[in-house]
Amino acid sequence: MKEGKLIVVSGPSGVGKDTIVNKYLEKHSEDELSISMTSRPIRDGEVNGVNYYFKTKEEFEEAIKNNEMLEFALYNGNYYGTPKAEVEERIKNGINVILVIEVVGAMNVKNIMGDKCTLIFIMPPSMEVLKNRLMNRGTDSKESIEGRLDIAKKEIGISDKYDFIIINDNLEKAVRDLENVIKNNIN
Ligand code: 5GP
Repeated sequence: MKEGKLIVVSGPSGVGKDTIVNKYLEKHSEDELSISMTSRPIRDGEVNGVNYYFKTKEEFEEAIKNNEMLEFALYNGNYYGTPKAEVEERIKNGINVILVIEVVGAMNVKNIMGDKCTLIFIMPPSMEVLKNRLMNRGTDSKESIEGRLDIAKKEIGISDKYDFIIINDNLEKAVRDLENVIKNNIN
């Protein structure tokens, strides 16, 4: 059987990457999302095992030690990472797996997986738009938003290492662009 591919989607916090990927998956249920593990506190409305596997810092470090993570990174003071077993199983079964992860983890995945993965960066139309989206989302404190904007500048700085860049100035168009990249360049 043909193996599935790994599709890595990154972009600054607030750029809308989860929304774009979820809308893509509504149309393409043949592809699947990887659920990450994190040590960040759960937000209102999030569900353990759906949005993330929420763990303590100690539990996360234990998983790293036991070699259970495909990749992980520290982001804004918390661990985030991709559990290896689920991803490997799906790829073996011919399923394309989408990882929505930050840039350090994305670069690590590229190093480990090489040609088996494609990197896609979602770009905001401007930093101003990004700041407004983070403030209007209302899920993060002022400090967290400032941290996320600082990280965003660094992330945009390495977007040239990605295979494809999609600008999210219109949600429907960004979803179509993602569809085109995946269906024309990956399968
Ligand atoms: P948030 O706290 O907003 O849910 O996520 C913060 C950042 O961590 C986002 O850029 C998100 O894509 C990234 N992230 C989520 N899961 C993972 C993961 O498994 N690995 C890595 N490296 N980053 C992740």
